[in-house]
Amino acid sequence: MASVKADKAEKANEEILSPEEARKIYDAACAVECDAFREKISRLRNNPSQLLHIEGGSLEQRISFAHYWAASHICQNLKPFSESTGQNDSKNSDLMPCLECPDCYKVAAHMHADACFYDGQEESIKVQSMRDLKVLVGEEPRFAPKRVVSLLEAQSLTIESANTLLKILEEPSAHTLFIFTTPQRERLLPTLISRGFVLTLPWQDPARELNELEKEWESCLVEFFRSGAGLFAKTAQKGVMDAQLLQCIMLIIQKSLSHALSGRELGALSKIWVNLPPHAFAQADDILISAQEALQFQTNTTYIAERMLSELFNLLPRR
Ligand SMILES: [Zn+2]
Repeated sequence: MASVKADKAEKANEEILSPEEARKIYDAACAVECDAFREKISRLRNNPSQLLHIEGGSLEQRISFAHYWAASHICQNLKPFSESTGQNDSKNSDLMPCLECPDCYKVAAHMHADACFYDGQEESIKVQSMRDLKVLVGEEPRFAPKRVVSLLEAQSLTIESANTLLKILEEPSAHTLFIFTTPQRERLLPTLISRGFVLTLPWQDPARELNELEKEWESCLVEFFRSGAGLFAKTAQKGVMDAQLLQCIMLIIQKSLSHALSGRELGALSKIWVNLPPHAFAQADDILISAQEALQFQTNTTYIAERMLSELFNLLPRR
């Protein structure tokens, strides 16, 4: 037990970031390609929805904007939007966070009492955390006029956590705002989506290069769809198939299907789908959607992956 405590203490120390390091979290939101999106956010700030969803873009951009949104309600040194773009002729007088003051730093470093972050990137967001949140939301913010609760990559909520969260959202609190990030709104329960306002970051370039892990799984998938062999030995390894990997595989398949459908043959996997009869593309979509839904209910991820892959395999014409 003692060593667990020590590990935790060590981890906590590591997580205290210098102001320079912490403020890097805002970089993606401040990049030129996000000017238009940042302007949308600045407009919303005047009359914020209790729950804002950010979907699309890259993971880095979504996470960056969640922090930016929190800072825009907590910073006490706001400045006009026009200053954030360097376009002095901009007529937009909406106010934006300065990103330089101690409050903006504390938000970035997760050290501000009124900016709460729950991160679904490493593990699913637990029901106990949501119960604690329910208590917190009943209290006034400590320093800022509003508290901002961010659920980063909220698709990893367990069903129990999502239900607890729904109860919190059903009792609107005048001083608490929520922001959820997710790759695609379909990954969240429809009841959570319908309670909020969805903003979509420009989708990433579908021709983006795959990273190493994605490449490795892509070649396994190609081999499997060609021969029907080799994949389940890999997916069945204990602890390998977590929700994040499954989502990554679903995205690889989705992307290759859309390439094949549009007649582009950008990769070996797209070439496999080129043989699909036209009606089977819709079936393939249905299979992916069912797998995504199954994932929301946190059933066995290995089982979801294997069922999805077998069903996709069965769509392919046999020679
Ligand atoms: Zn500030």
